[in-house]
Amino acid sequence: MTAAVVVTAPAKINLVLGVGPVRADGFHALATVYQAIGLFDQVTVTPAEDVTVTVEADPRLTVAGVPTDESNIAVRAARLLADHHGLEHGVAISLHKGIPVAGGMAGGSADGAATLLACDRLWNLRTRREELLELAGRLGSDVPFALLGCTAIGSGRGEVVTPLMTRGEYWWVVLESVVGLSTPAVYREFDVMHEVSPARPPEIPDELISALRRYDVAAVGMHLSNDLQQAALRLRPELGRALEQGRLESAHGAILSGSGPSCLFLCEGRAHALQVAGGLRALELGHVSFAPGPVPGARIVAKEL
Ligand code: ATP
Repeated sequence: MTAAVVVTAPAKINLVLGVGPVRADGFHALATVYQAIGLFDQVTVTPAEDVTVTVEADPRLTVAGVPTDESNIAVRAARLLADHHGLEHGVAISLHKGIPVAGGMAGGSADGAATLLACDRLWNLRTRREELLELAGRLGSDVPFALLGCTAIGSGRGEVVTPLMTRGEYWWVVLESVVGLSTPAVYREFDVMHEVSPARPPEIPDELISALRRYDVAAVGMHLSNDLQQAALRLRPELGRALEQGRLESAHGAILSGSGPSCLFLCEGRAHALQVAGGLRALELGHVSFAPGPVPGARIVAKEL
């Protein structure tokens, strides 16, 4: 029997995040282009009587907001997979976070996807890919994309994912905030802003898809968009200054990641990312790193017998 399985899963960013009206089920309709970038959480699972979770993180991050009870998405993922197969297996889950918590980069979703994959291997279940994606969608809107990775179009509430073929490598400078931002709070602010004129059905601009297909970094930068940005900036106005600074530092585009507060700056290549990161670091607004995209989704990196 396998004694440990280690899986990594990447952070996601949204190159376009179109947010529509609230649906009958309470979720907002989304039209988004996801990209997975090279910041990772790592999940290790080992056999155990009960389902448990422990959390640690890279030194720059705090895990204060991550629950260690039944509400942790990794615990929910393990239970969901076991239930799906009519099993009562336990598992000890150990999370190592490299993705900022409540940073708008779907770190929790990455853990959910990684745990589905890790438990599937640990318990030797060989769940079909389509079933895993369906279970992932039940865990959260961003979880199917964390399984898929690379670049994909997301529709529905984000859980319906279609891979998108793109060319080339993109380099992103990521400015992380020490204090996270609650996704529900940002959506509430979005709803307040649209009380009088409701949001329109969301669309993905053809110009962005075409720029991604021909690998035109400057055009991709020009067409980045995020319908949650204004709402997030109303809650955290200082982030507007960070985005502005990135543009002054010559980034091709500057945008909030999902519901924020992480800020993303698109660069021409690695050398340009180093330069932009240096400029932003001098401002001491938060931790600055850089990462390439697209990268693959959740994958098994080690198995110990
Ligand atoms: P969302 O995925 O809701 O857009 P986000 O990407 O901004 O959010 P996450 O790091 O995914 O942020 O965490 C959102 C919240 O989910 C956390 O504040 C925490 O309360 C809860 N949570 C549950 N499980 C996890 C997990 N494994 N890692 C991080 N947060 C978790």
